Amino acid sequence: MAKRKKIPINLNLNVRGLKKSATLAINERSRKLAAQGKEIFFLGFGQSPFPVPEPVVEALKKNAHQKDYLAVQGLYPLRQTIATYFKRRQGLDYSPEDIMVSPGSKELLFLLQLVYYGDLVMPMPSWVSYSPQAMIIGRRVNWVKTHPENDWRLSPEELEALCKMDPDRPRIVIINYPANPTGATYSEDRLREIAAIARKYRVILLSDEIYGELHHSGRHVSVARYYPEGTIVSSGLSKWCGAGGWRLGMFLFPPDLRWLLDAMAVVASETYTSTSAPIQYAAITAFEEHPVIERQLHESRRILRVLGQYLYRRLRELHIHTPEPQGGFYLFPDFSHYQKALEKRGVQSSADLCEQLLEETGVALLPSYDFGRPSEELTARLSYVDFDGEKALKMAASHGDKPLDDAFMQACCPRVLEAMDRIADWVGDLQQ
Ligand code: PMP
Ligand code: GLU
Repeated sequence: MAKRKKIPINLNLNVRGLKKSATLAINERSRKLAAQGKEIFFLGFGQSPFPVPEPVVEALKKNAHQKDYLAVQGLYPLRQTIATYFKRRQGLDYSPEDIMVSPGSKELLFLLQLVYYGDLVMPMPSWVSYSPQAMIIGRRVNWVKTHPENDWRLSPEELEALCKMDPDRPRIVIINYPANPTGATYSEDRLREIAAIARKYRVILLSDEIYGELHHSGRHVSVARYYPEGTIVSSGLSKWCGAGGWRLGMFLFPPDLRWLLDAMAVVASETYTSTSAPIQYAAITAFEEHPVIERQLHESRRILRVLGQYLYRRLRELHIHTPEPQGGFYLFPDFSHYQKALEKRGVQSSADLCEQLLEETGVALLPSYDFGRPSEELTARLSYVDFDGEKALKMAASHGDKPLDDAFMQACCPRVLEAMDRIADWVGDLQQ
């Protein structure tokens, strides 16, 4: 046999040095450590703890035989159901032609950046994947300054300051609320103001509302109401329906942006072809009105609200500032109160902070650096999802309308509470 030769490494420059997405990496690392016998508290990865509602699982079983490739843009009856759902929930008017379904909204976010020629603008911090996607494609990223006093939200003033510098530049501005990583959301007034700036500079507003249904009081409002001609709404099944691994997401486009949808569908047709057929048929049930799904959503929000508030209170008692949680399942604790003590232990960055915390307590968090914050800032993302969602739903239902108290939290989410105790002990030890 001829002598083997080494194949030269010729990687696309845009992907050189890129690492696996931080969210997926922490999930794999935590699982590996747990498999080695270490006790790990899974507050790193942001996966819904709740099961897929039973009627949706049943619909998937019934549709296991669906085997054909489906339309690139998505199954038409599913798009009809999604349009009706957004009319019902948000009062927004979409036709099935305005909707594109895909294997996860992450894929659509990537396609959008690929086909649109412009900069990506987003508040710092923002979810881990927007910026690496821009880098893979070779787009410019503009991070907009935010402030802890404003719970790290995008402010209309900062957005305008950026747009004004080069007013005609094509831009996609991403807002995500309830937010990953902060758990905060926007008031309607703020949404109106952001919409007004977006309209003034004719930017595309990508509103990532994947946690919308997990607004803790069920009062999510889409910014598409205030800037209908330029807003693309992003959503999917991953969070409120607990179906991250099913991989189904969607974008809703205004008719004025049909050219973008069409271009994205062309690229989709040459890459992933279409979304899994059984999943799309099952998703019809998820978007229909169904009392069992409504009940589950109601209980999920109630559990997340009480658990989020409990952790918020505990963190504040420890002088660890975090925005008050309003939706989803994230907190964004700031450990800077302990900066001096942490420095003495060699902790100089959010990555060091998370590393030491994981090593010494088994609690996995994600460094804020992965969300775009400066590396030396001592903030991190905490996902309060390490509990048995199915059991928690049953317990909440049997609790009736009685308020869920700390004893309920202890019984239904013991691992999250233990993780909180460990964080408290750890920062307590820092001061010794
Ligand atoms: N946006 C945000 C803010 C997220 O947290 C996630 C992670 N699920 C996504 C988009 C992508 O979700 P999916 O691809 O599962 O629809
Ligand atoms: N969105 C989840 C998170 O932020 C994980 C899924 C993903 O990143 O694709 O942890």
